[in-house]
Amino acid sequence: MAGAGLRIGVVGGSVAGCAMAIAGVRAGAEVTVYERSHGALEDRGFGIVVPPPLHAELVTAGYVDSAMPTAPVPSRVWLTREPGQRSARELARQKAAVTPCHWGLLWRTLRANAQGATYHRGRPVTEVLRHPAGGAVIRTAESAQRYDIVVGADGPRSVTRAALAPQVRPVPAGYLVWRGTLPLDRLTAHRRELELVRTAWITLGFRGGHGVFYRIPGAVEESGLLAYAIYGPPPPPSWSAGREEYVRRIAEEHFPAGWAEIVGRGAHTSLTCHDVADFHVPRVAEPPFLLAGDAASITRPHTASGATKALQDALCLERALRASSSAAEALSRYADERSDEGARLVALGRRLGHAMVERTPDWAAMGPAEIAEWSRATLDGAGSYLYGSVQRQ
Ligand SMILES: Cc1cc2nc3c(=O)[nH]c(=O)nc-3n(C[C@H](O)[C@H](O)[C@H](O)COP(=O)(O)OP(=O)(O)OC[C@H]3O[C@@H](n4cnc5c(N)ncnc54)[C@H](O)[C@@H]3O)c2cc1C
Repeated sequence: MAGAGLRIGVVGGSVAGCAMAIAGVRAGAEVTVYERSHGALEDRGFGIVVPPPLHAELVTAGYVDSAMPTAPVPSRVWLTREPGQRSARELARQKAAVTPCHWGLLWRTLRANAQGATYHRGRPVTEVLRHPAGGAVIRTAESAQRYDIVVGADGPRSVTRAALAPQVRPVPAGYLVWRGTLPLDRLTAHRRELELVRTAWITLGFRGGHGVFYRIPGAVEESGLLAYAIYGPPPPPSWSAGREEYVRRIAEEHFPAGWAEIVGRGAHTSLTCHDVADFHVPRVAEPPFLLAGDAASITRPHTASGATKALQDALCLERALRASSSAAEALSRYADERSDEGARLVALGRRLGHAMVERTPDWAAMGPAEIAEWSRATLDGAGSYLYGSVQRQ
C-alpha cells in the first residue's frame, strides 16, 4: 500500500481538503492541512445536494457521520408561472432522489472525521514548488515543509493549480447565480410551497433562467431551512441597487406569487450572488501534485456536482493509495480516473446552462412528456442524478 508512511500536505481545509485528509489518513499517510481562513468554515450556511448512494457510501466508509442531519426527497417537481396570471403551474413530476445537506454541517462532520490529520487554521500557503530531491515544498509565512505529495484543495484560485496547470483560466458563462436560505418556521404563510418542498425539490422555469428550491436541515434553526439557487441575467446598467438585490426583481417579474414573496420579502439567513464560470484541468495529478474539488475543475452549478466531485475525489485517492505500490503509481491512477470526470461535468454544465438560462424553452407550453424529451436531448447521453428516471435507459 503506497499510503503507509507517506507525508501528504493538503492546501485548503474546506470540503475537498478535509475529505482528502480523511482519505490520506485512512490509507496510512501522515497528513497536514493548511487552511487560509481563521474563521469558522461551518458558518457557510448554504445548501448542498449530493446523490443518495454517495451519501450512503461516505457514511459506511467513515467520512460522514450517520448522525449528520439531511433532508432527502425522492422526487423533482417542475413549475412555471401560469401565463397572464400569478399562480403556479406544475409541468412535471419525476423520480430524481437527492440528499440535501447543510454546507456547514457537512464541513463539520468531515473536519471531525479528519482528526487524524494535523489541521492548521489561519495559515495561508504562499507557494508550492517541486523539491529538487523529490516531493514538493509547501511554503507559508511561518515555515517551508517538504511532502511526498501535495494536494491542492484550495478552490477556484488555487496556488497549487498555478504550479500544475498555470494556463487554465475560468471561462465566464455571462450570467449570475443567487444563493439564499430562509428559516422554514418563518414561511408558515406559504403552506402550499412548504408542502411541496417536504416531498420534492423544485425547478422553477422562467424566461431567461430558472430557480431551484429545496429543504435543508438548519445548523441552529430547528425547523430547517429553505435553500435556493436562482440563475438569470445580470442587472441592466440602469440598475442602481446592489447585484444581490436584483434577484428580488427577477422573482417579482417572473415567479408565481408565493415563490416571488418568499424570495422578495422572506427573512433570509443568507443571500449571495456569484458570476457563473467554469474550467477544468486536463490532467489533475502529476507527481508530486494532485488537485481535488474546485481547484481541479468547476462546472456551472446546474449539475449540483462540485462538492459531490470533491467527495468522490477523496474516495478515489484512498482507493488509489491502497491499490498502488508507490506514490507516483497512486497519482497516475487518480489522474486516469478523475481527469475525465471534470471535463464531462463542465460539458454537461454548459449544455444545461444553454438550455435552462441562455435559451430557455417556452416552459408554459410543456408537460411531462415535453420536459422528459427536452431533458434527454439536453443531457445528450450524459448521466446526472438530478434527472433520475428521465434518463435514457
Ligand atoms: C450556486 C451553487 C450551488 C452549488 N450546489 C451544489 C450542490 O448542490 N451539490 C454539490 O455537490 N456542489 C454544489 N456546488 C459546488 C460546491 O459548493 C463546491 O464545489 C464545493 O464547496 C467546493 O469545495 P472545495 O473544498 O473544493 O473548495 P472551497 O470550498 O472553495 O475551499 C477552498 C479552501 O481553500 C482555502 N484556501 C484557498 N487558498 C488557500 C491558500 N493559498 N492557502 C491555504 N488555504 C487556501 C480557502 O480558504 C477555502 O477554505 C454549488 C456551487 C454553487 C456556486
